[in-house]
Amino acid sequence: MDLAAARAQLIKHLSSEIRDQRVLDAMAKIPRERFVPRECHSLAYEDRPLPIGWGQTISQPYIVALMTEALELGGGERVLELGTGSGYQAAILAELAAYVVTVERISPLADNARRVLEELGYRNVEVHLAGAHLGWPPGAPYDAIMVTAAARRVPSELMEQLAEGGRLVIPVGSRWEQELLKVVKRQGKELQANLGACRFVPLIGPGAWGEEESEF
Ligand code: SAH
Repeated sequence: MDLAAARAQLIKHLSSEIRDQRVLDAMAKIPRERFVPRECHSLAYEDRPLPIGWGQTISQPYIVALMTEALELGGGERVLELGTGSGYQAAILAELAAYVVTVERISPLADNARRVLEELGYRNVEVHLAGAHLGWPPGAPYDAIMVTAAARRVPSELMEQLAEGGRLVIPVGSRWEQELLKVVKRQGKELQANLGACRFVPLIGPGAWGEEESEF
């Protein structure tokens, strides 16, 4: 099967669970094969995570769709992503929001993602190398924040970067298994919903796991 047909079949499969048509349309448009290593091209539209080097993975398309849907993007938002990885999720956010700031701690991944996003013509995405603070405080407040690596708890540093009424989606739990949480910031309160079990690589750095704890 060629990649275009495989992509169409994946979107059809996702549409049984994902209701937000804008999310499905964005995923139908973006060439996921551009974000995975060459040797994985033929697997680009399987509903599974794939290795992207440096011990990291591009998430399973279903999880990408679920997390994106949870952000409830209408088109005008400023969005922060933690964990640029391949840049695939950032491309989806760039399709669905006004502006995306994405942060990655592994320099070659950040460079590669920046290049692919530029080649695909995205002009509303900033890729940053992670600094001393979790997230990207200079760009705050954000209407939506997506964390694509696992945290032990909902980091207060990120709640501070979230706008009033904003949505944060984050996997929270142990090193090996997590629950996907959606947190809405409303009038000083954090309203939480659990979107189900998931498994992500660890979020590393201030407010998250230490380097040594992330070893496999
Ligand atoms: N969203 C990515 C997949 C992310 S994998 C995609 O679409 O391909 C998780 C990524 O989070 C890894 O690349 C890892 O290096 C990065 N990461 C871990 N801790 C981080 C931190 N504190 N800040 C930014 N990125 C981090």
